[in-house]
Amino acid sequence: DLWQGIDFSRSKAEARVDGSTGVKFGDVAGIDEAVEELQELVRYLKNPELFDKMGIKPPHGVLLEGPPGCGKTLVAKAIAGEAGVPFYQMAGSEFVEVLVGVGSARVRDLFKRAKVNKPSVVFIDEIDALATKRQGIFKESKDHLYNAATQERETTLNQLLIELDGFDTGKGVIFLAATNRKDLLDPALLRPGRFDRKIRIRPPGAKGRHDILKIHASKVKMSESVDLSSYAQNLPGWSGARLAQLVQEAALVAVRKRHNSILQSDLDDAVDRLTVGPKRVGIDLGYQGQCRRATTEVGVALTSHLLRRYEHAIVEFCDRISIVPRALLFEVLPVPYLIPSATRTLSQLVFHRLDDESYMFERRPQLLHRLQVLLGGRAAEEVIYGRDTSKASVDYLADASWLARKILTIWNLENPMVIHGEPPPWKKSVKFVGPRLDFEGSLYDDYNLIEPPLNFKMDDQVAQRTEELIGDMYRKTVSLLKRHHAALLKTIKVLLDQEEISGEEIEFILNKYPPQTPLYLLE
Ligand code: ADP
Repeated sequence: DLWQGIDFSRSKAEARVDGSTGVKFGDVAGIDEAVEELQELVRYLKNPELFDKMGIKPPHGVLLEGPPGCGKTLVAKAIAGEAGVPFYQMAGSEFVEVLVGVGSARVRDLFKRAKVNKPSVVFIDEIDALATKRQGIFKESKDHLYNAATQERETTLNQLLIELDGFDTGKGVIFLAATNRKDLLDPALLRPGRFDRKIRIRPPGAKGRHDILKIHASKVKMSESVDLSSYAQNLPGWSGARLAQLVQEAALVAVRKRHNSILQSDLDDAVDRLTVGPKRVGIDLGYQGQCRRATTEVGVALTSHLLRRYEHAIVEFCDRISIVPRALLFEVLPVPYLIPSATRTLSQLVFHRLDDESYMFERRPQLLHRLQVLLGGRAAEEVIYGRDTSKASVDYLADASWLARKILTIWNLENPMVIHGEPPPWKKSVKFVGPRLDFEGSLYDDYNLIEPPLNFKMDDQVAQRTEELIGDMYRKTVSLLKRHHAALLKTIKVLLDQEEISGEEIEFILNKYPPQTPLYLLE
């Protein structure tokens, strides 16, 4: 008999328990506020009797909520690790089985064993899998399996509620759960006396990312010369898990290349692998195509460098350009307005992000400069090929039009002061927070303020003013690049020769070929 000897009610949690998780708060970074709040639990776990004697009640349950990969599990383990107590972990999905009664038995079992070994920590990951909003009496469905599963989940959830309610404070057991979909949770679970503490685990900011990288770098052999802060700065939106993956990937690259320690170039390679994908062989654009791609990307990059140099523009500058075709597209580097450059698989232009503050309050000059940058590709084509332009720069042009319309309508930074068309509905509410896809592909909301859809009448006047604004900026960019014709040509040539060029190399070329350098001086 297949089932004989198998005790379904035993939760699988047991397999993961040892005396202590070994994780400490020192292994966690970027979520200092949460850690601060959780310290209290450690103090309790270290000496529950003292708290009981003083009549201080620990929280019933603590809900850690936030996007995946930002350290919810890690911080739960750190609590147990710091206190040196056993850690019982299960995923919500493991409770949900079609076999009747198994889920609730597992819940009972999990809590029973945690109580026996108190003080201890119980942690349920993905609690949303177990405790999604109940349908009331389960909905009629032709699918019996579905009905059974729904009913089973409700029984399990009820058992969990019973455990939480019967969870006498002062039992020496701390119950933690994690979710990235708080909106899906059954409201019964969020009632006071159940999860009376909710802690937000936010994605790390630039400093947090730096600290997380330092932690993971300390576990591998990283060359002293590596500048981790630039990665922290340039990888906005990356979760702790993804940064940990980056370091692992870089270590693999270093091993493959027989380096003694991880070098900056290994990390660059790893970023490429995790973003634009590995190099693709077998695609040949032909020399003409390569020239056009190089011209476009260099035009955009060079415009940003020139504007920074000669007009003190606050715009992103080039980290590197590559005209090597790339295979898969995992993710887009979320540099505002410049996203398509990274999505291209035939060539890539990676920008250096500015510090976070620069994006908080962008002013008119900054936005107009950015508009010029986006027009730089087509402008470079015109400088070199005259009217013989190509479609290589259309993505940037589409972005430029979009940005120009926003400048004219939503932000209304040009005269006249009248906003044409209907006010967008979101103007009426305080702020617009919408769902968005996070980097691991699941939906979460509330973490990012996203741009609402543009809702204005694209009337003749807006269209005409867009054209005028783009036209003005375009002419400025063409004359800027004409003045630096020599540097433009040189940069394109180097890119075509090496297939890759860095921002530093561009700066070097600009130093060597000042404005109005005659072309016959070109090497
Ligand atoms: P979550 O539970 O929020 O989905 P995890 O805690 O499982 O995320 O994170 C997975 C791994 O990513 C961790 O084991 C750790 O290596 C790394 N990591 C995530 N967040 C952090 C952080 N804030 N500090 C350090 N490492 C982190």
